[in-house]
Amino acid sequence: MIMQKLTNKTVLISGASFAGLCAAYWMNRSGYKVTVVEIAKGLKMGGTPVNIEGNTVGIVKRMGIFENIKSNRIAMEMLEFKNSDDVTEGTMELRKKGESLKEDGFEIERNTLLNILFDLVKNDVEFVFENSITSLKDTTNHIEVTFKNGSVQDFDLVLGCDGIHSSVRKIWFGHQEEYSHFLGQYFSITIVDKLLIKENTTQFFNIPDKAIMLNAYNNKTDIVLCFRSENEIPYDYRNESQQRKIIFDQFKGESWRTPELLQEMMDSKTFYFDKLCQIKMPSWTKGRVALVGDAGYCASPAAGMGGSLAIDGAAALGDAFEKFDGNFELAFQDYNKTFRPFIEEVQERVLTMGLETLVPRTEDAISKRNKGGFGF
Ligand SMILES: Cc1cc2nc3c(=O)[nH]c(=O)nc-3n(C[C@H](O)[C@H](O)[C@H](O)COP(=O)(O)OP(=O)(O)OC[C@H]3O[C@@H](n4cnc5c(N)ncnc54)[C@H](O)[C@@H]3O)c2cc1C
Repeated sequence: MIMQKLTNKTVLISGASFAGLCAAYWMNRSGYKVTVVEIAKGLKMGGTPVNIEGNTVGIVKRMGIFENIKSNRIAMEMLEFKNSDDVTEGTMELRKKGESLKEDGFEIERNTLLNILFDLVKNDVEFVFENSITSLKDTTNHIEVTFKNGSVQDFDLVLGCDGIHSSVRKIWFGHQEEYSHFLGQYFSITIVDKLLIKENTTQFFNIPDKAIMLNAYNNKTDIVLCFRSENEIPYDYRNESQQRKIIFDQFKGESWRTPELLQEMMDSKTFYFDKLCQIKMPSWTKGRVALVGDAGYCASPAAGMGGSLAIDGAAALGDAFEKFDGNFELAFQDYNKTFRPFIEEVQERVLTMGLETLVPRTEDAISKRNKGGFGF
């Protein structure tokens, strides 16, 4: 049960992932009656583990879920850079043998964290699955929302927490092209229920402009395949077999364990494909609507911080409501101002460091990275 102030104000949150569930927690605490609308049948599961570090540790402590996260953490031990003969060219020891686990940074499975957040809010928040917002209209004191199932309802506020292809952003702020910056790379994620490498180990194999990452934990292995492309590739985002073929065509004929990994990718039940891009907006709020998480400021998976930025962003908004005692206009202004420098710094770091070290462009750069690691 979340401690909340009592008001009769209402907020609709679009999207039930990290941004949406965390925003639901903080808005409920600020006294809002919260409804979350999620387009999927349930929570959208899948994806690689999420990092909880730095500022985010303090936030999950304030939310009362720190111990739960800690007890479910994954303890990665070693990162290895492989060449095409499967020889290890460099390593980064993430944890020494016998060394106790860090207290200031955790990795946790995406699904486990989603379930922890859902359990935190499920009794205080109304969830509507398999529905979505189709239009928004400002009225004098409210915002009128029309849903895909035809119903119409007024809310005091709407929060777009619906990810990188946010429909709230599209409906209220303008088309994706205005805000989305393509980073010249595509990636796929497949998770198989077996260990393809030693547990708690990550392996990288690169060829110029392409990267393969294996990540093994809890009897699972993530297979991440990433390639560079100067231009955007037209594809149907609902057509998974077309996306699998794009990846297959890019990687077929490559060395190391590529044939085996492509077969796993083609046979797998889970598959996630997207372009690497960043969302940059001059303001994350307009009128009675705000964006939180990837919808407003995706830094791209290359930042390795998608989950934590969403958790941090929701807390920044929650703190702003606390600071201005529920005055949403002042709270929105504060959220835009105080959270922006951190986002700009993370997005810049991806451009200057992340992309080059994850997917180097030449054999020389690969060799240098393999020997020097990621420099963290
Ligand atoms: C299935 C899945 C797997 C992912 N895997 C990875 C990964 O492996 N590595 C990585 O770095 N990042 C991954 N991501 C992205 C990562 O979750 C986000 O970067 C980060 O968690 C930010 O969270 P978010 O809540 O802002 O957005 P997201 O986690 O993307 O969540 C957006 C939510 O909104 C819902 N939604 C979308 N459109 C609508 C709509 N019109 N109406 C209502 N709801 C809608 C989605 O179903 C989803 O639940 C994945 C996202 C998803 C959805």
